[in-house]
Amino acid sequence: SQKLAESEAQKKPIFSFEFYPPKTGQGVQNLYDRMDRMHALGPQFIDITWNAGGRLSNLTCEMVNVAQSVYGLETCMHLTCTGMPKEKVDEALKEAYKAGCTNILALRGDPPRENEKWEADPNGFRYAKDLVKHIRKTYGDYFDIAVAGYPEGSEEGTEPELLLQHLKEKVDAGATFIITQMFYDVDIFLDWVKKCRAIGITVPIVPGIMPIHTYAAFMRRASWTKCHVPPRWLERLEPVKNDDVAVREIGRDLVVEMCQRIIDAGIYHLHFYTMNLATATRMVLEGLNLIPTLDQVHPPLPFRPSLGFNR
Ligand code: FAD
Repeated sequence: SQKLAESEAQKKPIFSFEFYPPKTGQGVQNLYDRMDRMHALGPQFIDITWNAGGRLSNLTCEMVNVAQSVYGLETCMHLTCTGMPKEKVDEALKEAYKAGCTNILALRGDPPRENEKWEADPNGFRYAKDLVKHIRKTYGDYFDIAVAGYPEGSEEGTEPELLLQHLKEKVDAGATFIITQMFYDVDIFLDWVKKCRAIGITVPIVPGIMPIHTYAAFMRRASWTKCHVPPRWLERLEPVKNDDVAVREIGRDLVVEMCQRIIDAGIYHLHFYTMNLATATRMVLEGLNLIPTLDQVHPPLPFRPSLGFNR
């Protein structure tokens, strides 16, 4: 929050990158290399998503540890609280604490697909706000806690006003910033920010930005998240849909324009859903003139141990 205040005072945007744990050992090593290269772009932090249960959630803890302690990256660990016993949540928080990670994105998590209606674990947490409360109770102010915001509503179809109230409850429980679901319509986002402010949500709101990699992925993600795609975007992208290079270039221009409008509205932190890829995010940052010059680039890390991620 302090860095954001500085960036607002200097009117200089800052940004962060989201990554997810890859499925293979080789994928993990490749991602570390990419994370290290993307570190040179100067993100405020990187975050690692969470998959409830099993190997991938252990991998999140491990990646947070490696990113913090080996690569020197400030990290934010996503943590969901459903479908998991409370002990597992505590174990993950302890791991983050031990690794020196000071940021948690506290989430409820998706309901399991096979169940029509989601049921809370009787020994666990029900909503993200319960996890926020738990973290505050256990760790005081040690962690900066982010929560998820939904400018275009939630999949569960909760009424927008009620969803906003639930967001406020998460903030009142101790969250220090909000990261939003991806969107492509800036008007919807800015209108939603106004509504958040009107009901007394004062913490920073960080827009989730999804760069465009290919036309198919763009359409798929828009459909998954049910976000509104401005017709002008389709008019520009649809005619070149089979040309990945053209899609990336036009996509860059559209996303840059969208980010610039957000910055012009006084919101100075952009959070990029990298999808573990560097190019499209880098192109957007270049378009916004946010790539640091050589003398500002972080020096390469001298020590690169073999970490043996050979799963
Ligand atoms: P909550 O804020 O708990 O809300 C869930 C639902 O419960 C909402 O409909 C809300 O209105 C309702 N609700 C809340 N409080 C109450 C109440 N008191 N009474 C009645 N209803 C209530 N998922 C993952 O599995 N891993 C990730 O790493 C991950 N990262 C994400 C990152 C971002 C930025 C975003 C936006 C989402 C992410 N998700 C992730 C998805 C998220 O877990 C799902 O969207 C989930 O369905 C909702 O999580 P939440 O934290 O927003 O839940």
